Amino acid sequence: MNKKHISEQIIKYCLKMEKDGLTSGTGGNISVKNENRIYITPSGIDYSELIPEYISELDEDGNFLGIGKRPSSEREFHSKIYKTRPDVKSIVHTHSTYACVLGCLKKELPPVHYLVASAGKKVPVAGYAGFGTKELADEICSVISDSNAVFMANHGLVSVGKTLYQAYSTALYIEFVSKVYVISLSCGKPFELDENEIADAVERIDSYLGSKKNLWDK
Ligand SMILES: [Zn+2]
Repeated sequence: MNKKHISEQIIKYCLKMEKDGLTSGTGGNISVKNENRIYITPSGIDYSELIPEYISELDEDGNFLGIGKRPSSEREFHSKIYKTRPDVKSIVHTHSTYACVLGCLKKELPPVHYLVASAGKKVPVAGYAGFGTKELADEICSVISDSNAVFMANHGLVSVGKTLYQAYSTALYIEFVSKVYVISLSCGKPFELDENEIADAVERIDSYLGSKKNLWDK
């Protein structure tokens, strides 16, 4: 896989993220890890203006190698997640509305719908820290060990996967379930799946989303 191929896939998913309403403006970012390099969206450039040459190349520690445009201000947490979770090969960060709502309430997403299983048995909340800081990376990594998605308090969502397809799909599913949960709470007390039901869904969704050979296979 060369940088151009990976960059084209990152851009394809950035445009999808915008079309699917998972972010607004230049908010959010996407990265892919390939061997000892991290490829990440650049800082402050509209997704519609991205070209493969703009995608930033980092070393494993998140240092910018001078290839591509200036990297996303959130490269700190991307590189730390890859170190914390060696199984992860792609990360999607969004400012999607209902994930932000739950993040502002510091409220975990319980298994109120089987698609929570794309993240795990629930979606935990990482404590607040300023954007782009090492402290934010620490907060996220303290809760991401057994979940493929995390709400960032007063900020947004981060989701991870063995492929870009898995990380992106999880971001999309968790936004959908967050919306269902917030609406359900407004008119009653939603029922939750029991331990066996959610465990079964986790196993089946992981084999569906996480068993692809290539980073972007569907
Ligand atoms: Zn953000």
